[in-house]
Amino acid sequence: MSEFSYDIIVVGSGPAGSSAAYSAVSNDIKVAILEKEPCVANSVRTSGVTWIDDIKKFSIPEKFYNKIKNYSFHSHNNKILIKGDTPFAAVLDVRKTYNFLAQRAVDRGADLFTNNNVTKVQLNKDQKLININQNKFTSKMVIDASGFRSVVARSLGLVKQWRVFGTGAEYESYAENIVPDTWSLMVGTKYSPSGYAWIFPVNKHVVRIGVGITRPYSVINQINQLNKIIKNKVGPIKDLGKINPIELHYGLIPNDGPIRNTAYDNVLLVGDSAGYSNPLVLEGIRYAIKFGLIAGDIASKAIAAENYSKNFLSEYEKQWKKSIYKKIISSYMIQKRWLKLNDNEWDDELNIIKNLTACELINFMKSDFGLIDAMKFITKNPHVAVSNFFKILHKTFS
Ligand SMILES: Cc1cc2nc3c(=O)[nH]c(=O)nc-3n(C[C@H](O)[C@H](O)[C@H](O)COP(=O)(O)OP(=O)(O)OC[C@H]3O[C@@H](n4cnc5c(N)ncnc54)[C@H](O)[C@@H]3O)c2cc1C
Repeated sequence: MSEFSYDIIVVGSGPAGSSAAYSAVSNDIKVAILEKEPCVANSVRTSGVTWIDDIKKFSIPEKFYNKIKNYSFHSHNNKILIKGDTPFAAVLDVRKTYNFLAQRAVDRGADLFTNNNVTKVQLNKDQKLININQNKFTSKMVIDASGFRSVVARSLGLVKQWRVFGTGAEYESYAENIVPDTWSLMVGTKYSPSGYAWIFPVNKHVVRIGVGITRPYSVINQINQLNKIIKNKVGPIKDLGKINPIELHYGLIPNDGPIRNTAYDNVLLVGDSAGYSNPLVLEGIRYAIKFGLIAGDIASKAIAAENYSKNFLSEYEKQWKKSIYKKIISSYMIQKRWLKLNDNEWDDELNIIKNLTACELINFMKSDFGLIDAMKFITKNPHVAVSNFFKILHKTFS
């Protein structure tokens, strides 16, 4: 007999896990979330940038994010600023947002077990029950929302470690001169050997200064690189004046593209465990929430139907693939090209990007830039038609 028995156990209380638990428990079944840390969002592993229209759909309160309407980009010898009238991007208060999502699930009736590190997951002999941590917990289904490490799927031998991934580090810092409605993204070798660096304002006193590096393309240590660009006050970091770090955040994010199966008998993979973040800037929060909600819903229907087969659960995979598979592949192709650009080519790339309006830029970064947008863009900016940037844009979004 196990100590605790549930219909569905969700491993991980990040945005994917809390969202899956919320929609599952809303359908009146017994749900638990297991979290290894002492509380939700104890360690922050993200910069928390996302898009306002998405978080509105998830009912995340406005007081939990800072709005961004201007977007500056810096390369070796170039800098551009794309100004907007309305804010499209948001920098989340990550702890408040993740607690809001977890609380929602708990309020509906999910049990949250913190300080519960899942190390061993087995499928019982009759293939009916999932057994977690030597019989401490059992459930009919498990949703792996453990993030990059995918502890459930790996413990069950369903998946292997990611091959290509982003590693990032940032300091949440006080700084003297912050422009709260403007972010800075920095590209080229002086910022990151294979990735980009960022300044994301949290409010008028606090910014997140960070750097992302793609493995295995570069083996440079991300924290050393971050310390270096802050110490040398490279590019727009200089404009921040005196910087006082408050907290170090770091983490890993899959960048292999959507290569995994995400539905198995009794098991679903959601969020980073499923590997469906947007490769262009490696953002995954909104997809973790959106498809976490869908996974929880389909899992609860499986419980009601007493059918936890891969066949039944694959509806989840069908839905997320229908919605974003093509977008991820398009962004993946652009990111692959970006990883090969040298400093001079980045200078040129910014000259193309500067022709985008704020709205077009955000649609592009979100992978929502379709063929019609590309054609409108070229009609307004005919000189751009010959650029490699546009050619790849046209090819990938056609
Ligand atoms: C440096 C960095 C910056 C990023 N910046 C952005 C950004 O600006 N915008 C954006 O949208 N995305 C960003 N991302 C990606 C984003 O953080 C992820 O896509 C998102 O967090 C995925 O959510 P998740 O719920 O799947 O996983 P996670 O947020 O990683 O949550 C996983 C949860 O599972 C728990 N867990 C792990 N192992 C176990 C275990 N064995 N037992 C129990 N619990 C366990 C963890 O403690 C954690 O609470 C960034 C990633 C990194 C690394």
